[in-house]
Amino acid sequence: MANTKGQIGVTTENIFPVIKQFLYSDHEIFLRELVANAVDADQKLKALASAGTFKGETGELKVQIELNEKKKTLSITDNGIGMTADEVDRYINQIAFSSAGEFLEKYKDQTNIIGHFGLGFYSAFMVSKKVTIDSLSWQEGAEAVQWSCDGTPEFTMGKGKKDERGTTVTLYLDDESAEEFGTKGKIRSLLDKYCKFMPVPVVFGKKTEWKDGKNVETDQDDVVNSIEPIWTKAPSELKDEDYLNFYKALYPMEEEPMFWIHLNVDYPFTLTGVLYFPKIKERMAIDRNKIQLYCNQMFVTDHVDNIVPDFLTLLHGVIDSPDIPLNVSRSYLQSDANVKKISTYITKKVADRLEEIFKEQRSQFEQKWDNIKLFIEYGMLSDEKFCERAMNFALFKNTEGKYFPYEDYRKGIEENQTDKDKKVVYLYATDTDAQYAGIEAAKNLGYDVLLMDCELDSHLVNMLEQKLKDARFARIDSDTPDNLIPKEEKVKPEMSDGDKKALEELFKGALPKGNEYTVEPVNLGPDSAPVVLTQSEFMRRWREMSALGGGMNFYGSMPEAYDVKVNMENPVIAKIWADKEGTSDLLRQVVDLALLGKGMLKGKALAEFIARSEKLLG
Ligand code: ADP
Repeated sequence: MANTKGQIGVTTENIFPVIKQFLYSDHEIFLRELVANAVDADQKLKALASAGTFKGETGELKVQIELNEKKKTLSITDNGIGMTADEVDRYINQIAFSSAGEFLEKYKDQTNIIGHFGLGFYSAFMVSKKVTIDSLSWQEGAEAVQWSCDGTPEFTMGKGKKDERGTTVTLYLDDESAEEFGTKGKIRSLLDKYCKFMPVPVVFGKKTEWKDGKNVETDQDDVVNSIEPIWTKAPSELKDEDYLNFYKALYPMEEEPMFWIHLNVDYPFTLTGVLYFPKIKERMAIDRNKIQLYCNQMFVTDHVDNIVPDFLTLLHGVIDSPDIPLNVSRSYLQSDANVKKISTYITKKVADRLEEIFKEQRSQFEQKWDNIKLFIEYGMLSDEKFCERAMNFALFKNTEGKYFPYEDYRKGIEENQTDKDKKVVYLYATDTDAQYAGIEAAKNLGYDVLLMDCELDSHLVNMLEQKLKDARFARIDSDTPDNLIPKEEKVKPEMSDGDKKALEELFKGALPKGNEYTVEPVNLGPDSAPVVLTQSEFMRRWREMSALGGGMNFYGSMPEAYDVKVNMENPVIAKIWADKEGTSDLLRQVVDLALLGKGMLKGKALAEFIARSEKLLG
């Protein structure tokens, strides 16, 4: 075969610099692309052999990576199908380069192409000043071919020296890349990131062992990957231990997961994978980039947003699907029909699994509830379909630490906690210490009190009020205990408008400045507290939600508003009302007592309260 020279079929005069710049931040994917081609070549040979087309010995199919740190060369060798000169011309000169040209043209303004797929062989030039291909095809009588290109659109091609079937691609790293990638440690870490689960053994050097006080090479190949990761196996072949070991291999620093789901579907799309539920305690502490996306065991990315619903990014694990379009921009992904189906499928599987654990291992489910609650509630709030399912297995936890499915809980409280408007009132506390008095008072009335101390609970409460029929949520301090669930209209004290105004002014004068107060005379009975301070459920929720949404909007920036209920039947109040001037200390005292109960009496005001108490007692 005579040596040939030619021009690579690209339109731009010299697109090498362009591609270097374009993919600057992601140079390292060249290795994945070249190893993937080599793996493909091996698998194609295997397919030819099993179809009977290739009748020779395949031998042990593998991919070998060699780095020469001195010469700054890196080679990737497979013993797959190889290429004839014709094929090199067709696949490399014409197709590979023209598709790289097209790729660049199409995506030059979008740097977020998922995993930078579809660049293939050409990506070798991101890191090399020269690239050679030495290949010997599997076909009988094939001649070895060598191809070489030094980074201009010109290449040379001629007779090669390769005497074993397969292909070696050799990269002559440019100075900058040699610096970045030219060490064994770096290549190993790239292989670990991108090739850890490729389906053909990838060999990088020899295994070493400790002998006579030093590390020496053995004659055993050091295989960097595991060719049959657990997601490629049938769930029936696997034990809990296998799942836990795999998790450890993926995330050596993480605590053991709570449970997992094995995904396995081949129609209408192909997808396999294993998703794990980590222990989630706080939203802030969550690392979202813990799901790895693979395409036929080749690592693509660990940013799966736009592929799975947001709440599922809280899970960990692996998804492998050749049906997720990889050479598209992220914004396109969301509208892709396959991606939508995949996302719906995964959501359904997650719900199925949770429901299964809920039904079959209730006590385990309860034990783990505190750690999956944030995940489930986030899912309920953000995904309508998931919410529908989760209504069947989500739990309420009460202030005594007992757990109830939604439906059971309602049945339990319905009789005693339905108000005069026929609404079932769900009482809840957000802090068992601060709201201790209210919780106890409610319990004394035979009510149950839920604990809603998760950061998403105020949103959840709003949503549940719409989902649960004839239901209302009331925080334990949003009214006086016996008014939380009003069973009948209370008789209001009879007072003229003028008297009401006078009462309001009298009490406002004794309350701390800076807040808004609505003073209301009520009849709570002679034995009940003289003054009760409450905060309306509605206003408090708005403030909380504005705070959660970040920034202070209209509700967030309003002063705190309190309802001040003055119990006209209480004898002390009667005395104050009868003798306004002579009882100013007593007035301050009953107001401070109410503030004290809310934890609002501090510093100077508290010291004054104590002094006044001593005086009144003395
Ligand atoms: P892609 O792999 O996406 O088709 P590439 O640019 O990586 O694009 O490669 C172009 C073609 O070159 C491949 O489809 C394959 O036919 C051929 N090729 C590349 N590397 C090898 C190899 N190691 N052995 C055999 N053929 C190869």
